[in-house]
Amino acid sequence: MKVYGTRRPCPRCNGQKMTKHPANPREVQICCTCDGLGSISEQQSLWLKAGADLKQFRIEHGLHLKDFAGMLHIKECDLTDMEYGRKQPISMDELLVIL
Ligand SMILES: [Zn+2]
Repeated sequence: MKVYGTRRPCPRCNGQKMTKHPANPREVQICCTCDGLGSISEQQSLWLKAGADLKQFRIEHGLHLKDFAGMLHIKECDLTDMEYGRKQPISMDELLVIL
């Protein structure tokens, strides 16, 4: 599998490299999805999509990050990384086996 292919604009910051601070919209911070690069790899864009599905699954089941991470036997911060596409997310197939 080709990992370092075409890069695409980061969907979180739209290539701006910075995002608004969640708690204080007047402050900007380095985009945590692309790490301030403004673009993401093809692989990361797949992770982002899978991570969004994972997050949707969690929210649909009314689970908090901490509880869901506990069910998956992973750390809360790893789950956050997965949901934001910074780490390879657990696939839906794997999820159904675990749960
Ligand atoms: Zn970004």
